[in-house]
Order: sequence, then structure tokens, then C-alpha cells
Amino acid sequence: MTFVTRQEWQTSSQPVTGPARKAATTRTILHYEGTGRSAPISDGAAWCRNGQASYLSSRGYSLGYNFMIPNEGPQNGWVYQIRGEDINNAANKGSKDNPRPGFPYNANDYTRSITIVGNEKAQFTPETQAAIRSLMIGTLYGHRDVQATSCCGDTYYAQIPALNTDTPTGDDEKMLWIGKKSGTNSHHTADGVQRTYTAVPQILIDSAVRSNRPLKDMGTGRDVKKVSDVTSVDSATIDAHGFDVG
Ligand SMILES: [Zn+2]
Repeated sequence: MTFVTRQEWQTSSQPVTGPARKAATTRTILHYEGTGRSAPISDGAAWCRNGQASYLSSRGYSLGYNFMIPNEGPQNGWVYQIRGEDINNAANKGSKDNPRPGFPYNANDYTRSITIVGNEKAQFTPETQAAIRSLMIGTLYGHRDVQATSCCGDTYYAQIPALNTDTPTGDDEKMLWIGKKSGTNSHHTADGVQRTYTAVPQILIDSAVRSNRPLKDMGTGRDVKKVSDVTSVDSATIDAHGFDVG
């Protein structure tokens, strides 16, 4: 799974901002574009920048989703961090006067939102399924479960039960060791799969913790539960774990 931080896609003049998370995340809400597409998505970074510019001009606040996943094209199954783990969701507040059962107002404060971009009549690819599962906290719902809306579309909505019940799969399942290299680039190795980040994403650690999978720090060999447990290591240490540092 490729994870793109907002620092990697946003422009310095239009950064994603917003209030810090207001409560613990207990549920995950799925969204879609709902506008149809004339062509498959090919550049998720451009999609995020366009969305951010549109939100700032039309609504006056940053693009509301926590994460975006393209479900087609060259970036199929990638995860784009938008508001991420640290900025409060702004995509599914629910109804103040007539809240849906189980979703007291304001649902943004305790949910995580993921929007899927691509053909809204398509099935989720295996890569997208793995990406959604890696981001899920608690049960996955559709936006229509929270308030009156067609979102996340009939085809996507019908696939939610399987995501809540199937055994998680994907290379994130195999994550065994994690480390930072030189304090800047992070090398996250998953049973032979190597990923490079500008920072260790907490969501990948969350995913391992939630699945009760042992995740060890390369430098200390200790269990990793949070980003601060990950220590900087040198190339030799990474090599010692049997991976090519690239
Ligand atoms: Zn929605």
C-alpha cells in the first residue's frame, strides 16, 4: 500500500487545516464523488489539490475527508492523507434536529471519513479493499447511514458488509518491522515489501495494533504501538533484517 501524506501533495499556499480531533474515533464512514467521471482518475495528488481549492473557495474550509483512495488507474488502492488522523473530520456531521440512530450529532467528531474516487458503479479492487481495511476503526458505514444522502452510491454501499466481515488481507497484514532511516526517510518493511515515507504514518501502526499483529522496531526490537516507538536506524540495521534499503 502506498501512503501519500498531505505534505507530499498540498500546495504551500493552500495547506489542509482545521480543528484537532475532538474525540476518539469509533466508526468509519465511506463516501464517493457522486458526480460521475468523464475519465478514470490518474493523479490523486491533483484530485486532492483541486478538491482543496474548491472547498476553500466555495465553503471556506479545508477538504473534509480524512483519507482518499483511488479505486482505478495507476494509483489504484493508494491512500491519500487529507485531514488524516489529526484534523477533525468534516464530511458527515449528521442531522442536528433528527439524528440517525447510533449517530448523535456531530458525527464528524467521532468518525473517520474515507472517500473512494473512480467509477461509482465499480467493485472495489483487492488493493482498495486492503487500503480501506487498513484505515478502518470500528465498523464501516456509508454516509447514508449518518444522514439523508445518496452517498456512497448503491454499488459502493452494497460492498460494505463484506468489508466488515471478511478476514483482512493485503500486504499490510504482513508488516513485521518498522524503522526510520536518518530521521527523515522512513523504511517500512512488510515481509519483503518495502515502503518509503517522509514520516511514519500512525495509521499503519494502528492497523497492526488493531489486528493484534506483532510489529517490532528495527532498532530496539521492542513492540511498536505508536510513532514515537519507532527509532532511527542505519542502512546496516535495515540490511540486517534482510531487506534491500534501495
Ligand atoms: Zn458522502
